[in-house]
Amino acid sequence: MRVILFGKQASGKGTQAKLISEKYRIPHVSTGDICRETAKQNTELGRKIRALIDAGKLAPDDLMNKIVISKTQKMKGFILDGYPRNLVQANAFEKVPVDTALLIEISDQEAIKRLSVRRICSKCGEIYNLVSRKPKKEGKCDKCSANILQREDDKPEAIRKRLETYKQVTAPVVDFYKKKGLLKKFDGAEPIERIFAEICRILDTFAEK
Ligand code: AMP
Repeated sequence: MRVILFGKQASGKGTQAKLISEKYRIPHVSTGDICRETAKQNTELGRKIRALIDAGKLAPDDLMNKIVISKTQKMKGFILDGYPRNLVQANAFEKVPVDTALLIEISDQEAIKRLSVRRICSKCGEIYNLVSRKPKKEGKCDKCSANILQREDDKPEAIRKRLETYKQVTAPVVDFYKKKGLLKKFDGAEPIERIFAEICRILDTFAEK
């Protein structure tokens, strides 16, 4: 089963991708995670990607296409999170067959509200929320005790930039899959479990095939 997952920042896309990956035993391919891993490297590429991420800008299409296509072409199934992010990437990704594209919808207002309380572990990447999922010890990760931080790109200026980029370049990609008849929409304001149940209703039809 080859699935693409769309949604604005903080729509709950990462959480749903993880649940889908576990239930259907398909790898979760997150280009945000791939970029953040690359950005940790003390290389020219690492530094370049770090600067783009921190500014809320996209990494180069050629690089992303190469990474994602070579990875997914060999896979029988995947849940793809964060890609394709613009029409150039969507066209390049035509090489890889896709069964369905899922969109989790939330308003800009809700995205800003959620991102401002999101924190991430600097070491293992575990996600926290200062309202609904606080770490047990303030500022420290429950899993590995490293410091938890606010992502540079979750700070207000970068959030505005990322939401604007989503509207301008990613929303047309959602339309691209809608026109192909592959798009299914979900209300991101619903509880995580309810969204997941609805997603499973759709994905079960592919898993049975
Ligand atoms: P995300 O966690 O998906 O919001 O991604 C974090 C950052 O990684 C983005 O703001 C971009 O700088 C970079 N990134 C992730 N996916 C892509 C992509 N498909 N194309 C270009 N840049 C990406």
